[in-house]
Formats: sequence, structure tokens, C-alpha cells
Amino acid sequence: MQVSLALPSHLPALRDRLRALLGPQVAPVRLDPVSQLIHAVLSARTYEEVSWAAFMRLRAAMEDWTRLAEADVGELEQIIDPVTFADRKARQLPVLVRVLLLKRGGLDLDVLAQEPVSVAMAWLMSLPGVGAKAAAATLNFSTLDRPVLVVDTHVARVARRLGLVGRGDAQEAHLRLMSQVPATWTAGDLRELHCLMKTHGQSICDHFDPACHLCALRRDCPRTGVGAAGQVLAFRDLRAT
Ligand code: SF4
Repeated sequence: MQVSLALPSHLPALRDRLRALLGPQVAPVRLDPVSQLIHAVLSARTYEEVSWAAFMRLRAAMEDWTRLAEADVGELEQIIDPVTFADRKARQLPVLVRVLLLKRGGLDLDVLAQEPVSVAMAWLMSLPGVGAKAAAATLNFSTLDRPVLVVDTHVARVARRLGLVGRGDAQEAHLRLMSQVPATWTAGDLRELHCLMKTHGQSICDHFDPACHLCALRRDCPRTGVGAAGQVLAFRDLRAT
């Protein structure tokens, strides 16, 4: 039975249908909040395997994260290369750690477990170079375990094509999706939705060539059979499945 994504409960319906299609998802490794924040910075516009490898090299090179505050930018760039924008991230990380030390007197973000999610998000996004995705990842993926959805490029693309959000930026997509989250959903529910939408975006709802003929959402999707540039995917037989 098809469950309409147009119903008010469309996020639970979306989760159920993607779960039926993709099966259980393995959530990212749970790190302490500061480690998760540093990984989130490294992972911007970078493949996961590349960012995790860079994170492990960086963690091995620093005895603790406070050493990042005085680290040599050139050495940092060598350690984290080939993440995207390695030079910029190598400059950003020491500044970020210095600001954290200044604001908190140490590298401990556990206080964010007590704050309302919106306050914790705003505080993290006030840090240099930290956007909505990195802030949400710090709160949801880490041991803080806060109920906030991480909206990366894949999640935003799938949501946009399904008409769940408009064509605004990642911050707007984050706010629009969060406004649709059922009040009863836990941090784990939101991690699962993130993993399902991301996997769907990577495997089926590709940026350039969405495989709509394989998609469990195609009957409710206003972009069924339309490519990234608005072209009709004529080579697909959408009635075939
Ligand atoms: S029908 Fe096509 S565009 Fe819509 S969600 Fe599925 S793969 Fe993406």
C-alpha cells in the first residue's frame, strides 16, 4: 500500500518506506561532542572515507584537542590532506579550538545536553566556520544524543525533490524539515531518517541521474523522471516496476 507523502505525517511515512526499501541503517560512530565537531568540519564537501581517515590521522597527531589551538597550519594541512579545502580547514581548526577555549574555559561541550536544541544549535553556529550541518551533527551524532536532523546535500536534495522543502539553502531546508518532525521522535529516530535519506540520495536519487524507475517514492514525487537540469529522463520506463 502506498502511503501518501502529502499527509501531515509525511516524515514517518517517508521513513517507513525508505526503511522497507533500504533496510536497517548503521548510524555513524558516536564520538564525544568536540571530536564530532572537528570531524564535522573535516567532512564538509568531502567523501566520508576521506574525512574519517583524515580525522584518525589528526587525532593520532594531537595528544589532545587543545594542542590544535597552537598547531602549525602547514603541518595541519599536510595531515588532513586530501580533504576538500584542506588549506582553509587547516586555518579554521586552530581558530575554532581557540574560540572554544575562550568561551568555555576548556574543551567540554556537555553543557549543550541541557540546553534547548534551538539554543544549542545557535551557540554552535556562532562558532567560526560552523554551519547548520556541522552544528546538527555535533548535537545528534555525538554522545550528546540530541533530537535534531542532520541535513547534508543528499538529504536536502531528496527533500527538495519530494517537495518537503523549498529551493532555499541548507539552513532553510534544516528549519523546514525540523518543523515537520513529530514531537515524539527521539534523537535515534532522526539519526535513522538522516541515514535513510542520505543512502537513498547516494544510491537512487542521484544528483545527475536519479533512478526514478527503481524508487519506492516515485508515485508521490513531483520530480519523478526529471533530471538535475530539468530534463526528462526519456530512457527510463517509469511504468516498468
Ligand atoms: S522519484 Fe526520482 S526524483 Fe523522486 S525521490 Fe525518487 S529518485 Fe528522487
